Amino acid sequence: MISRKVAVIGAGAAGLVASRELRREGHEVVVFERSDRIGGTWVYNSNIESDPLGLDPSRAIVHSSLYESLRTNLPREVMGFRDYPFVAQVNDDRDPRRFPHHTEVLHYLVDFANHFGLIELILFETEVIYVGLLEEEEELKNNWVVKFRKKGEVDGSSVAHEVFDAVVVCSGHYTHPNIAEIPGIAAWPGKQLHSHNYRVPEPFSGQVVLVIGNRASAADISKEIFTVAKEVHVASRSTMNVSPTQRFGNNNVRHHPLVKCANEDGTVVFHDGSLVRVDAIVQCTGYKYYFPFLEISDTVTVDDNCVGPLYQHIFPPVLAPGLSFIGIPWMALPFPTFELQSKWVAGVLSGRVSLPYKDKMIEDVAAFYFQLKEAAIPKRYAHFLGEKQFDYADWLAAESGCQPLEEWRKEMAKERDRNATTRPESYRDEWEDEDLIVQAHEDFSQYLPAELCGQDKQT
Ligand SMILES: Cc1cc2nc3c(=O)[nH]c(=O)nc-3n(C[C@H](O)[C@H](O)[C@H](O)COP(=O)(O)OP(=O)(O)OC[C@H]3O[C@@H](n4cnc5c(N)ncnc54)[C@H](O)[C@@H]3O)c2cc1C
Repeated sequence: MISRKVAVIGAGAAGLVASRELRREGHEVVVFERSDRIGGTWVYNSNIESDPLGLDPSRAIVHSSLYESLRTNLPREVMGFRDYPFVAQVNDDRDPRRFPHHTEVLHYLVDFANHFGLIELILFETEVIYVGLLEEEEELKNNWVVKFRKKGEVDGSSVAHEVFDAVVVCSGHYTHPNIAEIPGIAAWPGKQLHSHNYRVPEPFSGQVVLVIGNRASAADISKEIFTVAKEVHVASRSTMNVSPTQRFGNNNVRHHPLVKCANEDGTVVFHDGSLVRVDAIVQCTGYKYYFPFLEISDTVTVDDNCVGPLYQHIFPPVLAPGLSFIGIPWMALPFPTFELQSKWVAGVLSGRVSLPYKDKMIEDVAAFYFQLKEAAIPKRYAHFLGEKQFDYADWLAAESGCQPLEEWRKEMAKERDRNATTRPESYRDEWEDEDLIVQAHEDFSQYLPAELCGQDKQT
């Protein structure tokens, strides 16, 4: 097997598991992390950005989008990496719940990094500012130059660089807000923010608040704001088809179709013609993929929030295997997906696993885009997996030569979705898949590291 020198950008969940898999495969790994700690999204930051909508390009970026009260929206059994189970522990500072507070996820990632000795691979407070091709190299077809800056160094002369055989991008995609364009909003007098900059409900005390969006953050944030606000309204694309109780389980939150326009007098008009005067708008409208350090931006582009062309959401065909992306898909179990993607990338880089020829990968991506077009699915859904995630995971496992995703995990993920639909208010505390929990724990017993053995009790 060939050992490569590999740069990993980011020490969130994706970067951590990627570095573990790369090292397991015999590669030399350097992880660049711009913050002073591991965990990415899971490092809660009570600060918000100077522009609450996240539009000002000169704003100081706050990486994490977590709100203070956030509990996971997945049960811990399905959420964790496959061979390092995310089990409850009985320490005072730990949250043993099945859908724990966000602090518990950070504890888990720190444990994971310590257990596999990953910290020594990481250059902290080191931001990658440039990734580009150096020259054609015979075997890997390219060589990569990574330029990076230590925190506090803004003078160009202090930028250093290093050459790598390959770069694995794990920089996350929940930091740069996607904003709904609302006609008339410039003259509308209220305040707006994106959920990226939402932390606690108190600033909305006594106000009439409009939350835009229909995914997990919109559901959690609207319910939380409701505890202090005068009124909460939710505008979403799917409101017309689904009853409010089904979607948010709270009849006191009023539901509307999407916003048509906003007016100078403070009112917001919805697509059904109804209108409400609101003090504040919280946009839970998702995020944009953003790779400011990628020099080869004509080869990998972000078009309608689709990163491409990417073979299997990972390799740009023309630059494979030297450049890869971990964690691009959404609506898939994040940590297990990162783990399987990383195994595949590590195997491809060592030559243990073969990629198809470049033309075949290009054809494959073109066929995928064609399918989307035929089905009238906008490109921004290219990386949405949903039910396709299990076939994707099994494909990655088969290619990498590892075990497919466990059946209990697939069933539990589906059961979680059913439960969250029927019990949107209480799915984190009430469930009926005890049999699957038992199966998960039988499976975990083969992996539980010594420090976790005997502490694992389901709560
Ligand atoms: C509000 C919210 C709730 C969520 N809830 C859940 C949940 O319940 N369960 C679940 O499984 N997932 C959840 N997720 C998804 C979560 O983001 C993923 O689980 C996962 O943490 C993403 O990991 P990542 O490593 O891809 O990215 P991140 O965690 O974002 O890590 C990226 C890292 O890259 C670093 N970085 C970025 N650019 C550079 C650069 N140029 N140079 C150096 N370093 C750089 C960042 O500092 C960061 O540390 C949630 C996400 C959000 C936003």
